[in-house]
Amino acid sequence: MHRNLPALADGVFDLLIIGGGIFGAGIARDAALRGLRVALVEQYDFASGTSSRSSKLIHGGFRYLEQRAFSLVAESTRERRILQDIAPHRVRPLPFLLPVYRGDPRPLWLMRLGMTLYDVLALYRNTAAHRKFSPARTLAMEPGLDPKNLRGAIRFYDCQEDDARFCIDNLLHASELGALCANYCEVTGLAAKDGRIVSATVTDRLGAGSFDIRARAFINAAGPWVEQVAGLLTPGTPGEIPRLSPTKGVHILLPRLTQTHGIFFQGRRDGRMLFILPWNDCTMVGTTDTDFKGDPADVRADASDVEYLLAEVRALFPSSNFTASDVITTFAGIRPLLKSDASTPTARSREHSILRRGENLLSVAGGKYTTYRLIAEQVVDAAYDVRGSRPAECRTARTPLPNHRPAPAGDRIAEIPDVYVSDVTYAVREEMATTVEDVMRRRTGMALSRSGSPATAERVAHIMTNATPQDAERIDASLRAYIEEWGQSRPGRS
Ligand SMILES: Cc1cc2nc3c(=O)[nH]c(=O)nc-3n(C[C@H](O)[C@H](O)[C@H](O)COP(=O)(O)OP(=O)(O)OC[C@H]3O[C@@H](n4cnc5c(N)ncnc54)[C@H](O)[C@@H]3O)c2cc1C
Repeated sequence: MHRNLPALADGVFDLLIIGGGIFGAGIARDAALRGLRVALVEQYDFASGTSSRSSKLIHGGFRYLEQRAFSLVAESTRERRILQDIAPHRVRPLPFLLPVYRGDPRPLWLMRLGMTLYDVLALYRNTAAHRKFSPARTLAMEPGLDPKNLRGAIRFYDCQEDDARFCIDNLLHASELGALCANYCEVTGLAAKDGRIVSATVTDRLGAGSFDIRARAFINAAGPWVEQVAGLLTPGTPGEIPRLSPTKGVHILLPRLTQTHGIFFQGRRDGRMLFILPWNDCTMVGTTDTDFKGDPADVRADASDVEYLLAEVRALFPSSNFTASDVITTFAGIRPLLKSDASTPTARSREHSILRRGENLLSVAGGKYTTYRLIAEQVVDAAYDVRGSRPAECRTARTPLPNHRPAPAGDRIAEIPDVYVSDVTYAVREEMATTVEDVMRRRTGMALSRSGSPATAERVAHIMTNATPQDAERIDASLRAYIEEWGQSRPGRS
């Protein structure tokens, strides 16, 4: 995958996709598999928006049963199965324990009933059906759990994946199939004639120049920025602009806490469902869900988010006694949720919608990572409709997602995740990584591990500079930016 801006400026594409998160990547791969001429531009790095900041679960969404979102859960469990089939190297089953305590807002019998429904909606095609365990069996499996007032636990399965890496894999496959994808290219304008967009103006953030890309249909997959991109069309253009009620979600990484399970539990403070997940050589805890009004590029965990999650961990694992000084790192993202009149952020729907504005702009808003493949299928079908032609058959449900990783070579940089010098070189030469953060966070995943420290980042910068000596200055500046961000990702740490 190479950043070929002259080819983007020269071509006329069937689709120009704006946004290189998982929705844009999934749409690019789907359309390229159907034989369309595809271009995709991303304003920062691929997956740098919400698609590297999720809980990294491919899940049915057990908690949406409470909102009676049965079709969303059925759809998500079906997609969970498909993604395991097409990308078994990325989407892996994870056993969860759901411990229930006396006084929890949802009692054990209700959770069991919900789990039965969860299995039914998955048509029993999950890794295994749920099981209930006594308090003694529960504590034998996860001895650190608070034994006081424990009524038992339910074990069930969902899947885990590396969200950023999975997104990059989709883009690599799309470009292998002929799609032209470029990061650090921001769409700053849309030129229309009689309600029909003819081209998008793109500003190259690495070169400071601008150019136009021509296409027959334009797909706005800009996640939290979807309203801004739809707003680039002249006011008064007929059609709908998506409206969001975004929320912020924070995760913290702590030293390893559980043995083998993810833990899904009811928060003591407000009864919200929270996760404790094994992640690399750490434990990931999440997530908060609060209204967000600022610039999506500036979202960060603050000290109160961290304290909220730490208090829940201390209540569930009393001997851990974790404080802010134990936090290895944090990350925060924006859920681009559709505007609704739900009473709380957590109650807001995770459904998606595809809206048309003018003759040939489609915007996709809302949705979940888990259902990206299905959403991409619907968007590409709608794009055929915009062109007035019959959709070619979608092939993403049965086409394996290739594993692009090169054979490990050179020294090993980190054990967990497993990263070699060859991975960094490959990221720079073949995966369009241009900054230290691109490599640390979205190509190798080291940022979310104990190897995320400045010392590893310095080593990565050195390898990157050897691979592209002409970019030494930019790489050095990006190293300083990474180190600053790393410091800011640990609020409240003394
Ligand atoms: C805290 C949290 C936890 C979550 N956990 C899960 C989970 O466990 N499982 C699950 O299924 N879902 C989860 N989700 C939801 C999931 O992460 C999102 O639905 C998904 O990542 C959205 O992808 P996207 O492509 O729409 O948005 P994004 O990933 O944000 O991509 C949009 C891209 O568009 C780019 N862009 C914007 N404007 C322009 C422009 N003018 N020009 C060019 N590019 C532009 C942005 O830079 C961005 O990269 C979670 C979300 C959050 C916030």
